[in-house]
Amino acid sequence: MLDLFSIFSKGGIVLWCFQGTSEIFSPSVNALIRSVILQERSGNTTFNHNSLTLQYKLDNEFELVFVVAYQRILQLAYVDKFLNDVHLEFRDKYKNELRAGQHAGEFDFKACFDAVLKGCEQWAKSQAKIPKQMRTFEDSQKSKKTVASMIERKGEEKGKKSVKIVDAKLPNGKPEEPEEDDSDVLAARAKLAQKLNKTKKDVKKSPKSPKVEKDRTKKPRVWELGGGARDLPELDFSTDKPEDSNIIADTHLVGRMTGAIRDLEVDSDESSSEEEELSAPSPKKSGGMFSIFKGLVGSKALSAEAMQPVLEKMRDHLIGKNVAADIANKLCESVANKLEGKVLGTFDSVAKTIKATLTESLVQILSPRRRVDILRDAMHAKQEGRPYVMAFCGVNGVGKSTNLAKICFWLIENDMSVLIAACDTFRAGAVEQLRTHTRHLNALHPKQNHSRTMVQLYEKGYGKDAAGIAMEAIRYAADTKIDVVLIDTAGRMQDNEPLMRALAKLIKVNEPDMVLFVGEALVGNEAVDQLVKFNQALADHSSTSNPHTVDGIVLTKFDTIDDKVGAAISMTYITGQPIVFVGTGQTYTDLKALNANAVVHALMK
Ligand code: GDP
Repeated sequence: MLDLFSIFSKGGIVLWCFQGTSEIFSPSVNALIRSVILQERSGNTTFNHNSLTLQYKLDNEFELVFVVAYQRILQLAYVDKFLNDVHLEFRDKYKNELRAGQHAGEFDFKACFDAVLKGCEQWAKSQAKIPKQMRTFEDSQKSKKTVASMIERKGEEKGKKSVKIVDAKLPNGKPEEPEEDDSDVLAARAKLAQKLNKTKKDVKKSPKSPKVEKDRTKKPRVWELGGGARDLPELDFSTDKPEDSNIIADTHLVGRMTGAIRDLEVDSDESSSEEEELSAPSPKKSGGMFSIFKGLVGSKALSAEAMQPVLEKMRDHLIGKNVAADIANKLCESVANKLEGKVLGTFDSVAKTIKATLTESLVQILSPRRRVDILRDAMHAKQEGRPYVMAFCGVNGVGKSTNLAKICFWLIENDMSVLIAACDTFRAGAVEQLRTHTRHLNALHPKQNHSRTMVQLYEKGYGKDAAGIAMEAIRYAADTKIDVVLIDTAGRMQDNEPLMRALAKLIKVNEPDMVLFVGEALVGNEAVDQLVKFNQALADHSSTSNPHTVDGIVLTKFDTIDDKVGAAISMTYITGQPIVFVGTGQTYTDLKALNANAVVHALMK
């Protein structure tokens, strides 16, 4: 019934292996290692690959992995118990060899293995005969929730508001939105601006003076006697004003984005104080997340029970930083899995080990699994005589068009000509917004400096088929030797099936080099829901066996979240795809690359 059982060290040496069939299992085991064990998803100990289910157990004392594989259609009730029993049996039998670090020797384990398997199969049969008991409250998921995790925090409510900060440097052709009380956001922006060593003038100061009550009653219009004709030119909206008449190029931005995108920066003052807190807890700093470790006794193996209160606190801390609840749970389970049974020394090393484990896991999650170098890929596409195509998708108002324009600015700064395909044929004003960006970008990088027009807009108005417009735009770019095509798509809610189907079609027929999902850093659980459903819809509606789903993430409005950086973790955890760009404001230069260490640092504060 079992297809494979393998015991190997975390270093990759196979200690013992049983194979039930002649099938080749290495791709499935490699996939398990690559996508689960190395990607910090070890909270979930079951993994499906092709037709197989793989289940595993980690031995953290001897750094071993026990893996069992069986056909996915089978329901084997004894696998959990079997893994545990084999684990214990193997450890007991070979503890001396393992302690001595002997990994390559012969482990004659077959007889033991067969005996344990037989025992477990009999156990499963006897269990099947016992009628099922109703679950008690203690067994239910609800009982495992902490009170803290169920409390709705005020900050979370606030964080969900979309915030509009007016900044003259980034033109956006959208109609004015009502002003909101943005003092919190401005404070956060000021802090980030300080971190990024920006000049203070970029950050608008919140008005301190008391508001003067406006007289809101409507006044009758006073018509000038005999001068009615004088009003006519003002009221005449029929003629178009000359396009570039009011553009003043803010040229100090030019030249600041050449080369690869700069990393997000953080100041490192807190890290030293945190280290102090861990190594010598002072009475003043006893409230930190890791002070709970004081209760743990050193010099013995960490048990699940001992870690439980710490993990709960850790989970609440992560949720407080805007990590989606489900993902915070999985991360904690993964840390528990990694540490259970690990033999630790003194108290200090307990705290440091657990902190290091979580930090390591988080950095691992945020570190891209594959290289993303857009400039290089665009050059490569150019050599092949075709444009490099990027499509932007996401829900409305997350900053798709704005960040598309920032990316366009960065590409132009690196001497790439760009065609923006206006495929949001839905929202009134979307095309005009892109037209305004195009004019400003060309004013910043005029034709005479580059001997060609650096950015053009491909538009066909509203109500047309977006996939068709994108296709024409790509063809136009290929014919006119434009280097990069940026496709702006209509914002859509993740549950809107017809619109998701249309997006899947756009991607399927145009095969962009990169599909970017644009999501706000402000939202926690919601961002995960959006991303999962976008990915799922792209897979479901593509009607191919190898669908093109989201390749990367643009995380916007990072300047408005202070240290609540959890969305970054949630989004990368859920897709395994990298955060390619981070939007940190509303000017063309407010575009950064994710720095995993900086984000994890903010998360662990
Ligand atoms: P779209 O509907 O997804 O195309 O969203 P828009 O590009 O129109 O952006 C919506 C609002 O978010 C605009 O007011 C932008 O100025 C603002 N915005 C976009 N990116 C950022 C960012 O990184 N930081 C801040 N603070 N605001 C942003």
